[in-house]
Amino acid sequence: MLSFKCRDVGFDCDYVVVEDNDTEIIKKVMEHGKRDHNLNSNDFTPSLIDNIRSKMQKVEDN
Ligand SMILES: [Zn+2]
Repeated sequence: MLSFKCRDVGFDCDYVVVEDNDTEIIKKVMEHGKRDHNLNSNDFTPSLIDNIRSKMQKVEDN
């Protein structure tokens, strides 16, 4: 499992997502960004996606 905090890429936001893999996290983060930060698909540049990936943290499965 991986987790990602929206705050880690600079938003003043408490959104946290936990998913099985990075692809699912990117999908959820894009939905969140569009819904809560007025972003659109063009705002998710390759460098932002890389930044999001670099901030993901491993979560131990229980
Ligand atoms: Zn957010």
